[in-house]
Amino acid sequence: MRVSRRFSGIAESATLKMGRLAKELKAQGKPVVDFTLGEPDFDTPQHIKEAARRALDEGHTHYTQAAGIPELREEIASRLNEDYGLDVRADDVLVTPGAKHAIYEAFMAILDAGDAAILIEPAWVSYAAGVRLVGGEVVWTKRFADRREEVTYERLEKVFTPKAKILVINSPNNPVGYVLSKKELEEIAEFAKDKNLLVLSDEIYSKIIYEREHICFATLDGMTERTILVDGFSKTYAMTGWRVGYAVAPPEILNAMLKVQQHSVTCATSFAQFGALAALRDERSKESLKEMVAEFKRRRDLIVEGLQKLGLRCERPDGAFYVFVNVETAGMDGETFAEKALREFYVATTPGSAFGPSCGGYVRFSYATSTESIREGLQRLGRMLEGNA
Ligand code: PMP
Ligand code: GLU
Repeated sequence: MRVSRRFSGIAESATLKMGRLAKELKAQGKPVVDFTLGEPDFDTPQHIKEAARRALDEGHTHYTQAAGIPELREEIASRLNEDYGLDVRADDVLVTPGAKHAIYEAFMAILDAGDAAILIEPAWVSYAAGVRLVGGEVVWTKRFADRREEVTYERLEKVFTPKAKILVINSPNNPVGYVLSKKELEEIAEFAKDKNLLVLSDEIYSKIIYEREHICFATLDGMTERTILVDGFSKTYAMTGWRVGYAVAPPEILNAMLKVQQHSVTCATSFAQFGALAALRDERSKESLKEMVAEFKRRRDLIVEGLQKLGLRCERPDGAFYVFVNVETAGMDGETFAEKALREFYVATTPGSAFGPSCGGYVRFSYATSTESIREGLQRLGRMLEGNA
């Protein structure tokens, strides 16, 4: 038996793998401090859970329409129109089992074998894997948090190939936490127009943002017809296990994505969609979100300051809940650092190498974990680095 060729070069998701290792060590009774998975450590707000329970009681236990329940598609559309001044209709929205599946469906819908996707590293681990799984090729450009590396037309032009059909952007970014500026977005838009590219804009962290303002890519001039907007409920409403996300895309693309969905998973889970509807409709969600973001901001300050005191280099994230830390000053590459931290100090992180070809000197910390854990983790890393000196 042999698996298909498309799996050559596809590694296990590094984020999920490190999350699994951390959980396995915990189950063995080890005192693990877990900075691996990016998922809010908050419980899903009660009113959302109640809505899903009610949906179960009311018999919403069957397939829904493949594109999602009409009420949720309506609500998503009106929310986007309210928040960003877009002109989205319910028919433009596809509800998916998680944003991750929306992204995969988009690659399936757009890329033929040999077509290329432009990714900006450091990039979340599943973009490159998704592109390759559908037979596409990845072309990399870079943007760390550094001003000198901002995305420009010129820098995109340097990596452009006529095989490119899509460019993926992710702001606020996982794993660096940067937020793309208006100027960067405008240059991306101009480039997309000139090169006739589609842009997949993964805005899953749009509501988890500290100082800066989120700009929805589809609002840029001429971009509605080129954008596949992806967002979801996992992060904003602490609903990672519910598996509900969505995409808004031009009709032809949305239709192709819908076919992938029909032939793979049918629809997002029925009662989870009712929970998602309550997340959008119920005013209490705003309060929960506000509290969560305020807490993440406190944790961000704590971890960034702590890491810098340890002599590790990292930029202060503007959004999401990750810090991408350069560990080369500690004389290690990211893999060695992550391995040592986990095996000897039970501090679990994700090595940077999974986020792009120039990310080997980095380690990602998710600070979606308690302040006590952050303090404890920093202390242990302090011991590790002293021992290393
Ligand atoms: N995009 C990014 C950048 C992410 O970090 C994640 C992590 N879960 C996802 C998409 C997928 O989210 P979900 O499938 O849980 O909606
Ligand atoms: N997106 C989160 C992360 O980056 C969850 C795991 C995953 O889906 O990759 O950790």
